[in-house]
Amino acid sequence: MASQEAQVSKRLAWIQDELEALKASGLYNTIRTISSAQGAWLEVDGRRVLNFCSNNYLGLANHPRLVAAAREVLDRYGVGPAAVRSIAGTLDLHLELERRLATFKHVEAAVTFQSGFCANLAAIPALVGKEDVIFSDELNHASIIDGCRLSGARIIRYAHCDPNDLEQKILEAQGTYRRGLVVTDGVFSMDGDIAPLDQIYAISSKYDLMLMVDDAHGEGVLGHGGRGIVDHFGLHGKVDVEVGTFSKAFGVVGGAVAGNSLVVEWLRQRGRPFLFSSAVPAADVAATIAAIDVLEASTELVDRLWENARYFKAEMRGLGFDTGQSVTPITPIMLGEAPLAQQFSRELFSEGVFAMAIGYPTVPKGKARIRVMLSAAHTREDLDRGLEAFARVGKRLGVIAG
Ligand SMILES: *Cc1c(COP(=O)(O)O)cnc(C)c1O
Repeated sequence: MASQEAQVSKRLAWIQDELEALKASGLYNTIRTISSAQGAWLEVDGRRVLNFCSNNYLGLANHPRLVAAAREVLDRYGVGPAAVRSIAGTLDLHLELERRLATFKHVEAAVTFQSGFCANLAAIPALVGKEDVIFSDELNHASIIDGCRLSGARIIRYAHCDPNDLEQKILEAQGTYRRGLVVTDGVFSMDGDIAPLDQIYAISSKYDLMLMVDDAHGEGVLGHGGRGIVDHFGLHGKVDVEVGTFSKAFGVVGGAVAGNSLVVEWLRQRGRPFLFSSAVPAADVAATIAAIDVLEASTELVDRLWENARYFKAEMRGLGFDTGQSVTPITPIMLGEAPLAQQFSRELFSEGVFAMAIGYPTVPKGKARIRVMLSAAHTREDLDRGLEAFARVGKRLGVIAG
């Protein structure tokens, strides 16, 4: 036994080395533990802190109406789905959610998945294969990248948010493939910039390519009352595949593809996570339907989110911080090297503010940052508390003039 253990540890010693290297370069990710409901304030590692980390844009993750909706269906449906969607896992509630989402977003049809990640893994390999080509923004989300790789299609990356480079790449590849797909994030989650979807649509339609946008950070944020990036650009009926998530602004969990009804029907037949991984439980589905109720009833939460974002960013810039390219509530505070970003995050935490440092490989080397996620759940007083902490730490670490 002893010699076997020694062999195992030798076999896995490389992991120890890799972990040590991560720690030495300040890239080791220390994961904190939450022991409260999501909201403007959290209990993190036993401390009450102001929350600048969550994707809970509208404060729906612990909204009384959503919680009540989940509780109500628990008694009727129980907790587990017990099957994949295509065998015995499709509940009337899943279909109701799909209808409600399609109506909310003014699209023909929608199909839901276990997560946004799963939606990408379902959609991309169902649409393209090894004779095909994908034109993908170089900063697309990991789940798009993985979906592209799984498809076996040739992946051609174009320069970030650059329609001219996209067109150039399309021209270079002409005649070498069967089908083509253009895919982009809607809102880029690390920089908070928005894909020029109107220009991308103009190009993809000119060359008759399928168009897919992953609007995980735009769903519930962009467009009228949070109807997303397609609504923001007035491109209804023109984008074939709109991926969304229910885990961010919608406050629950799950993913979706909304758009063309043929695409949706195809994904019910060929979306692998839909066919081979169990369905989202009823309580989560009911809570997501309640999120749509809240969004349809009023634009108040979306309006407050944007008001908070505008206020916080203007104040941060006034203090002398670099908030990058963001035009959305995602607010990067650009710091440069990863160790500085990590130290900044730790010092904020000791000031009672929870804001994560993000470094390589999530963002390029030398572009480490603190990412502040604003929410409609924050009061003006919360934001002022956060700004004061940023000012103190920023001066102490020499990031802003003191
Ligand atoms: C967060 C995110 C996802 C994953 O969504 P989940 O529902 O959390 O799996 C997918 N794509 C993008 C662009 C995202 O930001």
